[in-house]
Amino acid sequence: MRLSFITLALVSTLVLAAPQVEEKGDDTVQLCATHASSEDYKLAERAVAKALEMEKNSEKAILKAQLKTLGNIKNAKEDSDRIIKNSKSLGVEEYDEYDVDDLTEEDSLKTRPVPTAKSTSSSSKYEGDSNEDEEKPAIPIVRVFFNIVMANRTFEGGNIPDQMILRQMIVLNDNYRGSGLTFKLAGVTRILNLDWFTNVGFDTPQEDAMKRRLHRGDATTLNVYTVGFVTTPGLLGYATFPWSYKDDSLNDGVVLLFKSLPGGGLLNYNLGRTLVHEVGHWLGLFHTFEGGCFGIGDGVADTPPEAKPAVGCPVGRDTCRSAGVDPIHNYMDYTFDACQNQFTRGQIRRARQISSIYRGL
Ligand SMILES: [Zn+2]
Repeated sequence: MRLSFITLALVSTLVLAAPQVEEKGDDTVQLCATHASSEDYKLAERAVAKALEMEKNSEKAILKAQLKTLGNIKNAKEDSDRIIKNSKSLGVEEYDEYDVDDLTEEDSLKTRPVPTAKSTSSSSKYEGDSNEDEEKPAIPIVRVFFNIVMANRTFEGGNIPDQMILRQMIVLNDNYRGSGLTFKLAGVTRILNLDWFTNVGFDTPQEDAMKRRLHRGDATTLNVYTVGFVTTPGLLGYATFPWSYKDDSLNDGVVLLFKSLPGGGLLNYNLGRTLVHEVGHWLGLFHTFEGGCFGIGDGVADTPPEAKPAVGCPVGRDTCRSAGVDPIHNYMDYTFDACQNQFTRGQIRRARQISSIYRGL
């Protein structure tokens, strides 16, 4: 009896001593601050209905476009290397008073996608031959701007190396392979701001100031901000939904903990899957545990419902009585990066439907 008590006490101590980030299954801890309201559900469903109507006439064109994605990924990687080389030449010191408009010149605009335009040989080198079917949609290429907010010029201060950004781009494209979307690095901005690095969080004045200063591009452009989340420990990131763009375009984008990038050193969450997850929201997806066991859940038919976020990698976990074990390997759950390896077909379809309506992707 006494031994059991000691064992219990020991276990309790171990649990309490564990890093806060490992307790993400606890309802009181949230790794991601992006949750769906009833209004979000309504706007998502509206987009899906509208997209279904439009898809009736363009199924063939979409399939054709997806076939070209592999080629886009290869070209996007080559361009990413070039952008990184160019960004280096600016020198980190110059970013302190950096005018964001400067980086919209040169290379970053050369391959700007025009999603609704008909393909021509000059509009984008990734869109294929100009003499092909005039009615096919342009290949959806998402330009990605990384905004690196730093407390100082050390790694711990958020000054992550270019290689981490490149590796993150590779993870992003790999994990969205088959989605028909290609992500292309378009620019890197580094800026010293201790207040932003420390205090940026969901709906804070610092977030507002940061995004208004740094945001670039349009609804098809992904702005990623890396910060320290010092005053919100345990938070890994959050994103805006596509339907929010219209009313507050400068707020659009993803905010990430810098240590979540590949090789970032954050225990269990440093393979780059946090950005993959947040981009899922940015395209219109909800958490797999959204809504719990009942109702519409995440709005996707082929992701079994789960009662609450999964921790670690609990294979076989089954928290709802309805059919199917919990989708713990899904990017839209809270499981460890190494545990995640999939979007379902239903999620990809939904993300494409919603982002086509609200982002023109
Ligand atoms: Zn999330």
